[in-house]
Amino acid sequence: SIPDDLPAGEAGAAPRAANAELIASEVARRRTFGIISHPDAGKTTLTEKLLLFSGAIQLAGTVKARKSGRHATSDWMEIEKQRGISVASSVMQFEYRDHVINLLDTPGHQDFSEDTYRVLTAVDSALMVIDAAKGVEAQTIKLLNVCRMRNTPIVTFMNKMDRETRDPLELLDEVESVLDIQCAPITWPIGMGKSFRGVYHLLRDEIMLFTPGSERADQTFEVIQGLDNPRLVEMFPQEIDQLKMEVELVHGASHPFDLDAFLAGRQTPVFFGSAINNFGVREILNALLDWAQPPRERDATVRSVQPTELPFSGFVFKIQANMDPAHRDRIAFLRVCSGRFERGMKIKHLRLNRDIKVSSVVTFMASSREQVEQAYAGDIIGLPNHGNMQIGDSFSEGEMLQFTGIPYFAPDFFRSVRIKNPLKIKQLHKGLQQLGEEGAVQVFKPVNSSDLILGAVGVLQFEVVASRLMNEYGVDAVFEGTSISSARWVSCEDKKMLADFEKSSAGHHLAHDAAGNLAYLATSGVNLKLTQERWPKITFHATREHS
Ligand code: GDP
Repeated sequence: SIPDDLPAGEAGAAPRAANAELIASEVARRRTFGIISHPDAGKTTLTEKLLLFSGAIQLAGTVKARKSGRHATSDWMEIEKQRGISVASSVMQFEYRDHVINLLDTPGHQDFSEDTYRVLTAVDSALMVIDAAKGVEAQTIKLLNVCRMRNTPIVTFMNKMDRETRDPLELLDEVESVLDIQCAPITWPIGMGKSFRGVYHLLRDEIMLFTPGSERADQTFEVIQGLDNPRLVEMFPQEIDQLKMEVELVHGASHPFDLDAFLAGRQTPVFFGSAINNFGVREILNALLDWAQPPRERDATVRSVQPTELPFSGFVFKIQANMDPAHRDRIAFLRVCSGRFERGMKIKHLRLNRDIKVSSVVTFMASSREQVEQAYAGDIIGLPNHGNMQIGDSFSEGEMLQFTGIPYFAPDFFRSVRIKNPLKIKQLHKGLQQLGEEGAVQVFKPVNSSDLILGAVGVLQFEVVASRLMNEYGVDAVFEGTSISSARWVSCEDKKMLADFEKSSAGHHLAHDAAGNLAYLATSGVNLKLTQERWPKITFHATREHS
């Protein structure tokens, strides 16, 4: 359909073509990525520095303020403050080099990995930050594996070169062997720690000299062209031979950069630098703009959707409450997959099969929530959610396009819920229903008991839920340990077989999740294994998708 803002009387092929051209050019200049890292590797610092490039220098304080809790006034944020971790991931949009960049922040703490995982379903590329003193850490491995599910291209940043780090060759080796991805070094460090001199750019044959300084707004590092430049010998008589030797070694032993391999998620270009000194940061941003792709096609149940298609479509990958104490609402984060979203337009909520008019939408311009007027594929918009939106919900201009690939992960930790005041049972159910829909926790109703079982991928989620039940629903809930050790969603083509399974002794272990899906709650690994062996035709799923 032709958007309203085109001049009247021009409905037809010409404006349609102009519109298609506009959408194509808007898509082409977009990049949507997330940062994956183990806590403390420097994600927050790097995010701040990236925002500096948008020209909005005051924004740099925003991330820090959020982390130190200065903006944290809700009780939920209180946990974040106490723990010094970022519970809530957020989205920041900024412009750089005529590109529109959507940076999706992911909570690094392992207890919030489920949320992090789903954020990664909404990105087109990822920036992997590694503390060069520590190398590949547990959370890096988990997150990289999630990126691998969609072959997301990854740029790697070896951070903290101003400290004593591990040997750079050893670091590359570790990435290759532990993460099973080829490394193509793009820059190479000269020294480390106190004797960190800068990096040599292997493709451009130039040396960027390191000077410390954390408040630098832009990179003003001196560049020396050519490894054989006599100035280098003058400046670094000690280091130059070693550098030449290393560069030769690196050229010989490592993989040359291969764009196709990068785009397929098989190879990662590696940069060395220091986020806190803003050193090497512009290079990684440029790599993401030059090499990573604009929004790609997305799979839906019926077909693949191209980002340049004219009709709008998108899916919800995250729901968040109380992001801002001034707006005590819940926000559904929607990734636009095609077309153009315009404020005030009517879109179809596929699961409910109902049209909704979205007149108030928010975009995420780093420091504040602003009203969005238009959004294109790759952009994230925030829809006010009054309880009718769930993770995985798809929206379109009418076509039944259910996007796929937005997973729920089987929880690893379980609690049963008890309330001190039985009169509050209704509030408890309502609260858990909503928190379940948000993905804050998974809620299971066992088929033959009235207890509720909560499941999480990290125990900290229970604390968040307890605190939110208290503050938002007035329910004082007590969580108790259970005998459950794992959960698997079950399905079976053969309906009779499934019915037999439900009636068998294994049926006592069954429960329904918040969306009504059947799950098997196992009391031990052995119990799960035996049940699977006894029921070979029943499929036990460790993840489930929105259905
Ligand atoms: P996050 O947990 O991944 O968000 O990490 P932060 O950005 O909060 O950084 C963790 C710590 O590492 C902080 O104390 C930072 O100041 C410090 N840090 C970050 N980047 C660098 C760097 O390039 N060099 C040094 N020496 N410290 C850094």
